[in-house]
Amino acid sequence: MQPLTTPKLPQYYTRLAPFAGEFATGSPILTYHKLGPRPLRVRLKGLYLGEALFRRQMHELKEAGYRSFLPSEWSKDLTNSSQSIAITFDDGLENALKYSVEPLRETGFRAIQFLVPGLIGKENAWEIAEGEARERLMDAPQIRDWIAAGHAIGAHTCTHPHLTRIPLAEARKEILASRLRLEDQFGVPIRDFCYPYGDWNPDVRSLVEEAGFTTACTTESGVNRQGTDSLALKRFTARYASRNWRNVLTGLQRLLRP
Ligand SMILES: [Zn+2]
Repeated sequence: MQPLTTPKLPQYYTRLAPFAGEFATGSPILTYHKLGPRPLRVRLKGLYLGEALFRRQMHELKEAGYRSFLPSEWSKDLTNSSQSIAITFDDGLENALKYSVEPLRETGFRAIQFLVPGLIGKENAWEIAEGEARERLMDAPQIRDWIAAGHAIGAHTCTHPHLTRIPLAEARKEILASRLRLEDQFGVPIRDFCYPYGDWNPDVRSLVEEAGFTTACTTESGVNRQGTDSLALKRFTARYASRNWRNVLTGLQRLLRP
């Protein structure tokens, strides 16, 4: 039986305890971007998660009895009893490959990387344009290693645009070509999509469906249940723990400052 009021969840996923009750009501999906040491002068610090914390998060889920599922395996029948969780990485960063493969192997979890096929082996150009620190994206041999380790790949457009801000014809090309290019290059079926920046609307969703995708991930928070649209799957963003005493004190000081 579900409680009448669910307590408010933390904004980001750091550890299982506050989320366990909510996870038990459907199929949760976690979102990761960058793993490992954070370079200096990073604008969006929250997109980095340390290697040790990632490993801890994977092992905690494993010890709690979770199995992993891939978005392509998501079905509306998945219920709390299956205790499964999906692990997704956006953008296909080299550091995400480097620091995730071992913890995933240790726990037997399978994960998916949403790739930007126009930039394979290059850098996070769409972020660099906004002044963000440079990071390398996986190259083709690394992506093959990822697939060989039992993991999946999905599409995240060709160049990572805001799909609702470009003409529909251009959005159509970005979406469809990202599937075809990945299938061509890696010889695996690509049926899972992820909206860059979580930016989508009904028109964009239709293009994703028309391009032959069967699932699409958003950045909206929540677990996926019976009524959830498979082309608008919800996810929880995983992030480092931000609530330490220093942060609390800084926050208080800011509040108390006249
Ligand atoms: Zn992205």
